[in-house]
Amino acid sequence: MTPRTTVAGVPVDTRHYIDGQRIASARTFADVSPVDGRPLGEIARGTAAEADAAVAAATAAFPGWAATARAERARVLRAIADGVDKRLEDLALVETHDNGALLRSHRRGVMPRVAHNFRFFADRLLSLGQEDFTTRGHTNHVSWDPAGPCALITPWNAPLMLATWKIAPALAAGNTVVLKPAEWSPLTASLLADVAAGAGLPPGVLNVVQGYGSEAGAALAGHPDVRRISFTGSVATARTITAAAAAHLTPTSLELGGKSPLLVFADADLDLAVDLAVEQYDNAGQVCLAATRLLVDERIAQEFTRRFTERAASLVQGDPREESTDIGPVVHARQLARIDGFVRRALASGARAVIGGGPHTALGGLYYRPTLLTDVAQDSEIVQEEVFGPVLTLQTFRTQEEAVALANDTRFGLAATVVTGDRERADRVTAQLVAGTVWVNCFFVRDLRAPFGGSRLSGVGREGGTWSFDFYCDVKNTVTAPGGWRDHG
Ligand code: NAD
Repeated sequence: MTPRTTVAGVPVDTRHYIDGQRIASARTFADVSPVDGRPLGEIARGTAAEADAAVAAATAAFPGWAATARAERARVLRAIADGVDKRLEDLALVETHDNGALLRSHRRGVMPRVAHNFRFFADRLLSLGQEDFTTRGHTNHVSWDPAGPCALITPWNAPLMLATWKIAPALAAGNTVVLKPAEWSPLTASLLADVAAGAGLPPGVLNVVQGYGSEAGAALAGHPDVRRISFTGSVATARTITAAAAAHLTPTSLELGGKSPLLVFADADLDLAVDLAVEQYDNAGQVCLAATRLLVDERIAQEFTRRFTERAASLVQGDPREESTDIGPVVHARQLARIDGFVRRALASGARAVIGGGPHTALGGLYYRPTLLTDVAQDSEIVQEEVFGPVLTLQTFRTQEEAVALANDTRFGLAATVVTGDRERADRVTAQLVAGTVWVNCFFVRDLRAPFGGSRLSGVGREGGTWSFDFYCDVKNTVTAPGGWRDHG
């Protein structure tokens, strides 16, 4: 295989990164750009052998990294953040070519956030700890002991951002990691390995195994020496991973899909509500948190729909590298077909497309028109299942109780957004919503200090702040009796 490719002028190594070395595989798979369908490179197709080698490297490196002083670990994490900053343009360009998300978002929001992930958890590590307390004179001391090698398995919709959200706390806590990026967007993980090596991260502390989920991913999930699995992806894959992890009772954190509601009450600022609703088309709707179910008070539904349609018509769809583009392509031909399948079945069962309803044929390729469907039944597939594309549904409600009942009536519970001008209503409604994150009169305001995760089928566990350290550590309480010490003097 050719060990390197060049994407938008940026050289990228297409092999695994194991124990500080670049390792090839006997077989490769093709990585294709959703922007224009051009091949980006032949990527090493890892199997159980490469997964084993990476876990062995992570196991060997673990004692040294775990024993490294917190201040030194934090220094290396900050150096990685600096390295990300230095290569920000390269990372942004490669990510856009690989997964089709907007270049302007990668430059301004996503890649700075990648660097922030490392700085945040470096700072957090240094502030970790709490006051000791006493029980009948005995001292209780809580410590966060690193768990060991961690397998991190990530999706394609925000590849480097989601991977580093796991890598940074895992490394900060003193663990070593093996990352298995998604096969539809494998490239920036390889660039991160270069950045980490340049920042002085010792060999074996961060390993990257490329390949398919059913091969490299499955081997990691069932590996007896892996001490933690952190997974972001679909519910179906989560079931397979947890079944594999069950053999060794490996603790597993799951960040999964959603079908989040956006509730618009009659007392809402309607322009704000429309802005928030149109924002759900970001990243061509391939956002786990996206509020894809618009629930609108029937008294304002007509006016809401009129303004929404007007705003959505102003969105520019096209090449994600262009500054003026609002909606790029979806990630892969299989994803486009999946999205279209959902929309066709919905239309066949009586839904009406207010806007969109199919691929953008003039643009060709993988562009799907932003779609709004009405006349959808609560128990229909389009309301109950995650589409993961630029497809929203609109339903109306008469009462607050009905709004809450509709909002909670799916198997998911990742997020919810409430738009209202009535503070008391906001308090009452948010208290009743089943969701890991609720936004009131805003959307996507995120802070790494806050817990993040899903209820029901949207996930198990929480990431962010102390929650991340709790997951990646064996939290220990040491109880010491008072006095009784021999004097060695
Ligand atoms: P996916 O489950 O198909 O794949 C995710 C990762 O799992 C990939 O790296 C894949 O190779 C790997 N994988 C697949 N089968 C595996 C197996 N048997 N064993 C081990 N690993 C395996 O998900 P996707 O299509 O890449 O991502 C889209 C999904 O991710 C959506 O459902 C979306 O909502 C969800 N997501 C959730 C969050 C969140 O934080 N809650 C964030 C982003 C995406």
